[in-house]
Amino acid sequence: MIPVTKPFLPPKTEYEKYLDGIWQREWLTNMGPLASRLEMELKSYLYLNHLLFVTNGTVALQMAIKALDLKGDIITTPFSFVATTSSIVWEGCTPVFVDIDKESLNIDAAKIEAAITNKTSAILATHVYGNPCDVETIEKIATKHHLKVIYDGAHAFGVQVNGKSVFEYGDISTGSLHATKLYHSIEGGMVITKNPELLNKIAKIRNFGISGYNTFSELGINGKNSEFHAAMGLANLPYINEIMRKRKELMQYYDEMLFQKGNLKAVKPQWHTSSENNGAYYPVVFESEALLLKIKNHLERNEIGTRRYFYPSLAAALPYLKPQSLPVTDDIAKRVLCLPLYYDLSEEEVMMISRLILRIQNN
Ligand SMILES: *Cc1c(COP(=O)(O)O)cnc(C)c1O
Repeated sequence: MIPVTKPFLPPKTEYEKYLDGIWQREWLTNMGPLASRLEMELKSYLYLNHLLFVTNGTVALQMAIKALDLKGDIITTPFSFVATTSSIVWEGCTPVFVDIDKESLNIDAAKIEAAITNKTSAILATHVYGNPCDVETIEKIATKHHLKVIYDGAHAFGVQVNGKSVFEYGDISTGSLHATKLYHSIEGGMVITKNPELLNKIAKIRNFGISGYNTFSELGINGKNSEFHAAMGLANLPYINEIMRKRKELMQYYDEMLFQKGNLKAVKPQWHTSSENNGAYYPVVFESEALLLKIKNHLERNEIGTRRYFYPSLAAALPYLKPQSLPVTDDIAKRVLCLPLYYDLSEEEVMMISRLILRIQNN
């Protein structure tokens, strides 16, 4: 069985070394030494000044919205994981969907201004598959209309744009360190901001709003993460460059087999011209949903997993929102499929999967 993804695991002994320390200190959670060390190492690896290690990428988004005190409407993308939209609703705001760009599959920055009203407080956009949004245009629009910007960077670990970390953009960027992501701490998330006061506020929100001994400064939540999760993050971090290298190599094999040697009737998302793919996903947009289904079903019969990521459109699928159609998103969501990509996948397997896909298509 070839799954669509598989979490990377470090050598068990390297994780165990961290466990020995936990047993010695008997400090299991609540901003412990490993959690602090992971924050420092992530800041250094990602070239960031301010970063918090939190429970997960969803709570990171919720705390970001809370910290910016957003109200009313938040402009967002319907082409993302459900947590992007649910966080907005969870925080009592209303998602206003703007259609995506058909090449980048990110929110179409050219369509944002038309959606702004006096109820709009922010833009929450996802760097889909790690491909940076049009951050410059979004920044201009936000400045002009006095809107806050949050980026859901759950896919964007290690991504640079214009020579700096993509997490530097927006008032706040969030990340996910979930086991299915490129780099993980089993469960985990990150909150990043350039604003130290805002970071301080989120640090308090993360810890129930506690500001001192028996004092509270905010409405808070439990957004902390444990020493065991931090340990996995620390044990995985030395491998991240190798993980990305390997995944990018596998992506090149797919490219070669499917598009250079093969005639796959599909396209790949167009990448931001000042950024490089981090190897997080291998999505292809087929020329029709019929072709996607034919290939997906045949692969399944051959025990090869794929994922319709993202399908369906969030604007159409959520029981707590009135269904809405957005032409580009509806069309792309029907035709996009992510192929298997993970560290342990071999070149031979990529070739076998690619040959099978082409054979199914050309039959
Ligand atoms: C995974 C993901 C999240 C949620 O992150 P968790 O750590 O699983 O809570 C949010 N947004 C996007 C785009 C994701 O892919």
